[in-house]
Amino acid sequence: MATIGFIGLGNMGGPMAINLVKAGHKVKAFDLSQDAIQKVVAEGGQAAATAVEAAQDVEFVVSMLPAGKHVEGIFVTGEQPLFDVVADGTLIIDSSTIDAETAKRVAAAGAERGIDFIDAPVSGGVGAATAGTLAFMVGASEELFAKAKPVLDAMGKNIFRAGDNGAGQVAKCCNNMLLAILMTGTAEALNMGVKNGLDPAVLSEIMKQSSGNNWALQVYNPFPGVMEGVPSSNDYQGGFQVDLMYKDLGLAGDVSHQSASPTPMGSQARALFALHKANGNGGLDFSSVLRLYQDQ
Ligand code: NAD
Repeated sequence: MATIGFIGLGNMGGPMAINLVKAGHKVKAFDLSQDAIQKVVAEGGQAAATAVEAAQDVEFVVSMLPAGKHVEGIFVTGEQPLFDVVADGTLIIDSSTIDAETAKRVAAAGAERGIDFIDAPVSGGVGAATAGTLAFMVGASEELFAKAKPVLDAMGKNIFRAGDNGAGQVAKCCNNMLLAILMTGTAEALNMGVKNGLDPAVLSEIMKQSSGNNWALQVYNPFPGVMEGVPSSNDYQGGFQVDLMYKDLGLAGDVSHQSASPTPMGSQARALFALHKANGNGGLDFSSVLRLYQDQ
């Protein structure tokens, strides 16, 4: 079993750190929020007073922070960069969703100091983080992927190597761009059917058994009352926030721009989520984008 520093114990990082504890790892947990640290301590983790303390005398550091500026700040540009204090041989696994360019830049800064940093963003949301069934998309060499895998296995079910540094973040934003497109498309079709007198549950079942079948229809129906236990049936509370989807579509836009890859559908989805966010819905689950289509 390994000794692991865990930095960023929010909605995702908290349950991920607890799953590492449950798997028998020794976890040194740090967050800016004491409450978040105490939740991990209550499950058997050890509190770290600072990020530096969490990152010293450990074999792995896992970070789960909001955005690229937090990741680069903690490891490279902050007052006490962790790259200056971690021991040789420590493997840093960043599971935050950040832009691929920052992920590559931080990995290169680590390499200059002889420190291994890999990107390993996740898909699955808070439910999967709690259940330990996240999908990990890893950007790392074969060797570092193999080294990280036993740690990732304690937090996830499907662990993929997408390619070298940054590739995990590219895979993540491709996936979330597609998710935004299929969710807005599903909302569009359901709203049109219902406005023309169809029952949303019947229409959902028809499309699920037909060529329009997709993930939203299978497990995350955006129409209230069609499916139990999903955010649409709980006033769009919980789940994956519009604000985070908007952030991810911005990351996809950056990749599209930098590589001159045409993404007209992704751009349209981003515009729709921007409108929905501007209407005050940033804190709702992203399936609430259905409301944008409905007569008010
Ligand atoms: P969150 O806001 O709940 O958690 C972030 C945590 O980081 C907070 O507890 C905050 O206090 C802490 N933090 C910020 N700066 C820090 C610092 N300098 N030192 C220590 N701790 C610091 O966010 P989340 O929902 O857990 O998401 C984390 C990452 O995972 C994001 O990049 C997000 O895009 C990604 N993600 C989220 C979901 C989801 O469903 N919520 C799904 C997949 C990926």
